[in-house]
Amino acid sequence: MQHQSIINLNSIKNEVELRGNKTEIIAVSKTFQLDKIKPLIDYGHIHFGENKVQEAVEKWTEQKKINKNIKLHLIGKLQTNKVKYCLPLFDYIHSLDSLKLAEKISTFQIKEKFKPKIFIQINFGNEVQKNGIQINELDFFINECQKNFDLDIIGLMCIPPNTGNPKSYFEKMNKLKEEYNFNNLSMGMSSDYLDAISYGADFVRIGSKIFGERS
Ligand SMILES: *Cc1c(COP(=O)(O)O)cnc(C)c1O
Repeated sequence: MQHQSIINLNSIKNEVELRGNKTEIIAVSKTFQLDKIKPLIDYGHIHFGENKVQEAVEKWTEQKKINKNIKLHLIGKLQTNKVKYCLPLFDYIHSLDSLKLAEKISTFQIKEKFKPKIFIQINFGNEVQKNGIQINELDFFINECQKNFDLDIIGLMCIPPNTGNPKSYFEKMNKLKEEYNFNNLSMGMSSDYLDAISYGADFVRIGSKIFGERS
C-alpha cells in the first residue's frame, strides 16, 4: 500500500494538472523526522522545504549526498549568522528580506562557488511581525541586489496577511511578476494553494496537507 504522504501528494498534483498549470510542489517537511519524509524521497519527489537551518543541516546533509536530485528550499527567516551553514545545502532561498542578508549571501556564494536561486519575500501588510520587503521599497531593493551583490533573484515570495482574502494578494503578486519580468512566484500553502495556483503560482509550499498536522 502507498504511504499516505504519497497519496496526498498525488491528489495535489492532480488538482494542479486539472488546472493546466506547471506549478511545482514543495513538500514542506519542517518538524517531521526523516522516517516520515523517506517515502516521498524514495518515490522520487524532488522539492522539499524547511524553515530552520539547523534542523535542515541535521536532516538533509546526508540525504542530499545520497539523492543528488533533491532540491532543498529554505522558506523561513534566515539570520545572517546562519548563511554560512546554508550554502550549498539549500538550492533555493525564499526569504530574502534585507540588504544585510543580501550582502552576506553574496559573500558566501563566492566562497562556496555556488549561487542559490533566490526569492525576495514581500510584506504586503507592512506587518511588523512578518518579514519581507514592502512594495514601495521593491524597486530600490531589486536594483541593489542585482547590481551590487550579483544575486540570482528568480522571483517573489509571499505569505499573505491573515486579514482579508488571500486571492487579492496573489493577484498583486501576479502583477508584480509581470511588472518586474520575473519567472517565478512562491505562494500558496495547505489552506490556500488552489487560489495561489489560479493566480499563477510557480511554487506552492505545502506541509500539513501532505504530511499531516504538525504537533
Ligand atoms: C510551514 C510553512 C508552510 C507550509 O504550511 P502548511 O500550512 O503546513 O502547508 C509554507 N510556507 C511557509 C513559509 C511555512 O513556514
